[in-house]
Amino acid sequence: MPRQRRAPRLAVFQLQVTDVTAPDPALKAPRIRLLGAPHSAQAFEIRDFLSRSGVAYDWLALDSSTGLHPVESQRLPLCEFPDGSWIDAATVPAVAARLGWITKPRLATYDVSIYGAGPAGLSAAVYAASEGLKTVLVERQAIGGQAGSSSLIENYLGFPQGVSGAELAERARQQAARFGVDILQLREGVYATFGDDGIHVDMADGSKLAARVNICATGIEWRRLQLAGEDRLLGAGVFYGAGASEAPMCQGETVYVVGGGNSAGQAAMHFSAYASAVVMLVRGERLADTLSDYLVRKIAAAPNVRVVTHCEVAALQGDASLEAITVRDRRSGAEQTLPTRHLFVCIGGLPNTDWARDTPIARDSAGYLLTGADVLAAATPARPWPLQRLPYHLETSVPGSFAIGDVRHGSIKRVATAVGEGAMAVAFVHQFLHQA
Ligand SMILES: Cc1cc2nc3c(=O)[nH]c(=O)nc-3n(C[C@H](O)[C@H](O)[C@H](O)COP(=O)(O)OP(=O)(O)OC[C@H]3O[C@@H](n4cnc5c(N)ncnc54)[C@H](O)[C@@H]3O)c2cc1C
Repeated sequence: MPRQRRAPRLAVFQLQVTDVTAPDPALKAPRIRLLGAPHSAQAFEIRDFLSRSGVAYDWLALDSSTGLHPVESQRLPLCEFPDGSWIDAATVPAVAARLGWITKPRLATYDVSIYGAGPAGLSAAVYAASEGLKTVLVERQAIGGQAGSSSLIENYLGFPQGVSGAELAERARQQAARFGVDILQLREGVYATFGDDGIHVDMADGSKLAARVNICATGIEWRRLQLAGEDRLLGAGVFYGAGASEAPMCQGETVYVVGGGNSAGQAAMHFSAYASAVVMLVRGERLADTLSDYLVRKIAAAPNVRVVTHCEVAALQGDASLEAITVRDRRSGAEQTLPTRHLFVCIGGLPNTDWARDTPIARDSAGYLLTGADVLAAATPARPWPLQRLPYHLETSVPGSFAIGDVRHGSIKRVATAVGEGAMAVAFVHQFLHQA
């Protein structure tokens, strides 16, 4: 429980104040202050979580020259709430609990349980609950998934000026809540068993969740560089994804973005408004091969964004935080060490389907879930499709268990398709329940 006394005076901490405001301050009221060491990975996790959740906060980075007593340092990061209460040695679960976001399921059994609250899962939740199904939505991190980390989504219908991922996610969360969806945040489904009485999921916290039907919308996880020191520097100079919360910390610096896809392009444009220079490190020959045309044109027109092709990051340097990267030319093998404090890695992802490994749910060789016609194509005498009817388009190899969005084999990795599949899956859920 948070202590209900006032936070210690902050005078010694007022060295760098980064004001990251919510996309729409009216969406959520609380304004939080977070204090921590400049390169604290724990503080980064909280900043990332808050900004993806659309919560306004002030980040106060402590200068090492303040000479904090070691005991004081152990209390960081310190999170102060608008009512004056605070948590020291703060973590994401502790902050989420303090915000009242960690709740228990209200029902013993739901009609439909949805795992993953990215665009696909949020959409399925809104459609399911609005059509009268008792619905629970489970999310292990921040609401919004990958889309929540996007600084500006420009190709989603109905937002001519674009919309930040955090705002889109928060609006969808409110819509789902209004229709009565039970949203269980910071909970993770780790294993599922399928029986005639429904689907039972083991949660990471040891609890269980039961539903007649489930929808897997667990999306993808960022791919790592697989370099020495990567884990140590994660959140301390090395970031996965667009790292929208970190942009204000890049003022006057040269930052590097690895990858040539749309998420990398968006990240580069976002950082270009803060950093003095942004360098995109791309393995391929041309950005146009992997990037949407509107982003290619924006990058070409940005005076402080440079694209280096045919290259890869070969090494990371730094003990407590990133100090430099080694970049290798893939044609000549020549290496160059470049000083930097910020490296953003946007090199695609791997499906979040480890939970399905020991279940009858069929996956492709990369781990994506098979659905519809692909289930039939992969069926064998040893593992046949068990029903007379054909599998529905978004149904996995287990009847009544559906997969939508990026986690699905053959999916189009877009917000709009994820949202569309969420709506479509609910139509199949109705058909399944009526036949059962
Ligand atoms: C930086 C960035 C910018 C992008 N920009 C655009 C854009 O401009 N336009 C566009 O169309 N697309 C864009 N995309 C792609 C788009 O965001 C994705 O295609 C979309 O988010 C996929 O949605 P999803 O719901 O299928 O999966 P995800 O968004 O990946 O969400 C999956 C969710 O499931 C959760 N989860 C995983 N495992 C579990 C579990 N076991 N239990 C509970 N929860 C779990 C994850 O934490 C995550 O929140 C962008 C992606 C990124 C990363």
